[in-house]
Amino acid sequence: MTSPPCEADPDLFFDEGNAGRTARAKKVCAGCPLRDPCLTEALAHAVEGVWSATTTDERKAMRRRAGIKARQIVTNPLRWKGEVA
Ligand code: SF4
Repeated sequence: MTSPPCEADPDLFFDEGNAGRTARAKKVCAGCPLRDPCLTEALAHAVEGVWSATTTDERKAMRRRAGIKARQIVTNPLRWKGEVA
């Protein structure tokens, strides 16, 4: 399993109040080989933070347009990203 680049600085992906840090997180995602499955997972679940270069609000808009209803999850999203125990 490829280790996702967001593992190096997870906090960067959960600071959506800071536009500069959000832009940096999106840049990291741009080069990530897991981008497609990451977006699929993020759209399917009501996770917060930057996932696959999208913010929480951007995914809400994408779901609205596509008619997707997100499921609530209780696990740490970084657990999926890193496939860690
Ligand atoms: S949030 Fe998703 S696309 Fe971005 S670096 Fe992590 S695994 Fe890759």
